[in-house]
Amino acid sequence: MDYIKEANQYIMKTYNRQSVVLDRGEGVYLYDVNNKKYLDFSSGIGVFALGYHNEAYNDALKAQIDKLLHTSNLYYSVPAIEAAKKVVEGTKLSKVFFTNSGTEAIEGALKVAKKYAYKKDASKDYEVIAMYHSFHGRSQGALAVTGNEKYQEGFVPKAARAVFANYNDLEDVKSKLSDKTCGIICEVVQGEGGIYPAKKEFLEGLRKLCDERDLVLIFDEVQCGMGRTGTMFAYEQYGVKPDVVALAKGLGCGVPVGAFVASEKFDSVLVPGDHGTTYGGNPFATCAVSKVFDLFKELNILDHVKEVGAYLEEKLEELVKKYDFLVERRGLGLMQGVEFDQKVPVGDVVNQCLEKGVIFISAGNNTLRFLPPLVIEKAHVDEMVSILDSVLSEK
Ligand SMILES: *Cc1c(COP(=O)(O)O)cnc(C)c1O
Repeated sequence: MDYIKEANQYIMKTYNRQSVVLDRGEGVYLYDVNNKKYLDFSSGIGVFALGYHNEAYNDALKAQIDKLLHTSNLYYSVPAIEAAKKVVEGTKLSKVFFTNSGTEAIEGALKVAKKYAYKKDASKDYEVIAMYHSFHGRSQGALAVTGNEKYQEGFVPKAARAVFANYNDLEDVKSKLSDKTCGIICEVVQGEGGIYPAKKEFLEGLRKLCDERDLVLIFDEVQCGMGRTGTMFAYEQYGVKPDVVALAKGLGCGVPVGAFVASEKFDSVLVPGDHGTTYGGNPFATCAVSKVFDLFKELNILDHVKEVGAYLEEKLEELVKKYDFLVERRGLGLMQGVEFDQKVPVGDVVNQCLEKGVIFISAGNNTLRFLPPLVIEKAHVDEMVSILDSVLSEK
């Protein structure tokens, strides 16, 4: 059967997909319908942290399917309560709302910021300060704070609900403050924008600004959270706590689920009627979240990420030294990027590596992105590097 022809006939063309039909996964490898094997260095865009076909994870989900898949949020369910406890304890914040995606986690976080300001003074039309080259999702609200015209064009009303500042530039953020500012949103490591970690002074400065002015500091950890950088949440490495954090991607390790989690100060900001979702946090999704937290502990994932992340960094630095068209390596843990100069389009490198059996994605600024499953071993890094090296040597 010609799958790709049928896909193009029936699926909206909002992606330029690779001509690969993936069929199954095993550990850190994927197989297409022709049984070609790929080493996965993108983990479904930072999702499949545990790798594919983790038996304990799959068994937990199968058991939950047989027990209870969905109830709605009009009732309590045990998996949701258990998952909530783990997320709250992990983030050291106060209360969580489960969503179906990262975008919805951002929407919720923005609603917290707006409602908090509105309760103090209902007369203003509030906005947040967001960063250039950020990415927060595709809904109208999340798009409005996404600082990249490529995503916004044609969809965001001209009367912007966000003003933008340069990432890692505290003075620029300060210059954008006004009496309409209700919060500041940023990724702790910019992902789609090209893998740019925040500077410590920047996050500390944002925290101070928000404390002084009673603004809501929102960290988007949809991509950089859940162990990706070597700590459960990237902000832990900076010693800076957000008021609200948005999570998704690795949170469910394959089951669509996101969350926004707020500190105690916001416990009574959103009240019954203010926010809701039919599917969000259902027993199936939260069973996944709960199992992910358990398995991270059991497998000692954070130490593993620190160790293999350091090794990956070292290997990437060697490549950057070897090829003069490689500009620099950036990143934390197993969230890494290597920027190429403009003469070598990174899209070609992605395609050639795919051909040779390694799956990569790119990020902004001509950057090759490394987001492997967190269970990846050093030997897999070596396997990836030797293929990438062979592709680069032909440039
Ligand atoms: C992927 C991503 C989102 C959007 O998440 P979806 O689940 O695709 O809606 C938001 N913020 C960041 C930083 C992301 O990487």
